[in-house]
Amino acid sequence: MPKLEISSIQTDNDVFVVNAVESLIVQSIRAKGPLSRTDLTQLLNYSRASLTTIVGTMVETGILHEVGEGRSAGGRRPLLLDINPQLGYVAGVDIGATSVDYALADFQGKIFERYSESCDVRMEPELFLNNVCDVVSKMLAKHEIAPERLVAIGLGVPGPVEFAAGVLIAPPLMPSWEGYPIKSFFRPKFPNAKVVVDNDVNIMAKGEQKAGNGQGVENFLFVKIGTGIGCGIISNGRIYRGNDGCAGDIGHICVDYNGPICHCGNQGCLEYLAAGPAIAAQGIEKAQAGQSPFLAQRMQENDGELTAADVGEAAAAGDRAANEIIRTTGRMIGGVLAGLVNFYNPKAIFIGGGVSKIGYTLLSTIRQATLRRATALSTRRLQVEYSQLGDDTGVVGAIWLALENVFIVQN
Ligand SMILES: [Zn+2]
Repeated sequence: MPKLEISSIQTDNDVFVVNAVESLIVQSIRAKGPLSRTDLTQLLNYSRASLTTIVGTMVETGILHEVGEGRSAGGRRPLLLDINPQLGYVAGVDIGATSVDYALADFQGKIFERYSESCDVRMEPELFLNNVCDVVSKMLAKHEIAPERLVAIGLGVPGPVEFAAGVLIAPPLMPSWEGYPIKSFFRPKFPNAKVVVDNDVNIMAKGEQKAGNGQGVENFLFVKIGTGIGCGIISNGRIYRGNDGCAGDIGHICVDYNGPICHCGNQGCLEYLAAGPAIAAQGIEKAQAGQSPFLAQRMQENDGELTAADVGEAAAAGDRAANEIIRTTGRMIGGVLAGLVNFYNPKAIFIGGGVSKIGYTLLSTIRQATLRRATALSTRRLQVEYSQLGDDTGVVGAIWLALENVFIVQN
């Protein structure tokens, strides 16, 4: 990756206070790519003279820059305007239960540095976030970018987030983070960075929308199957968070009224019965019962442990017990998704998260169960697919969430 040239523009925070028209100009260019002044005049239905003045200011402050000529409609070829990629830099951080994904991007959202490491999210937030700061600092240093030039950080966390405040509320996987002021933690190290915190499935939905199969899809669901199960909702092109920010918490929908007690206190939750740990536990059961030679051997090699990925490998190798576990899991998830389809009528469901890597049997069982159980009209054009972006979905979404929130619109 070539080293980015650092322009002389100062990332004074005032740059990010824009008025409504300036905000619309930014949104239009982000949606359509470079545009001429004439394009913008027509798109925004604004007078040419006023628009020229506004665009002039935006070029001066460094938000926009001119990037060559567009096609002529007769006469001189118009100059095209684009978002200045070097206005500042953005970090995307996708925190999972067992791993963290990092990315750095320019102001156009183009990723130029990527890093992943394993983690334990049950750590104290201060220790955890200190490490996050260190990693981001190193990534910036590698490209000789001063910390002051980081203008936004998008952060996804595996728990319910009160979006405006950026704090976790009663997070089952990371109880010590309850109410922790994540946003202000970053200020001493990255004084100019606006920090945006959201639930991990919301950022994955955003990633799929910006760079994956969700591009141009107005209504879709992003279902993450990992240590837990959650769902990001894109409604009319926007993330739907619900009244309190916890929309999409499908992991605690009941699939068995007589089932085991989940960590949320209720019985028979989808997450407790169908997420990664449940798949692994069933694998261990089958191995111990002598029903899966493959998994028994894998358990021996791994000090008595198994993961959902092991069950996936066993299934791919033709292990009957492993395939049955995956099909039972898929039917359970598909049953819940059918309910969501009846209720919400999305155009597509994209499935991501660690467990989505265990193979296509899971996807095909989920798809079959969803299509069989949901109503005919709602499934006529429904797509059920794995996410296109894999491990990048979260960081891409975190970057876009940060970019979309970096401008403060004032009138
Ligand atoms: Zn539960």
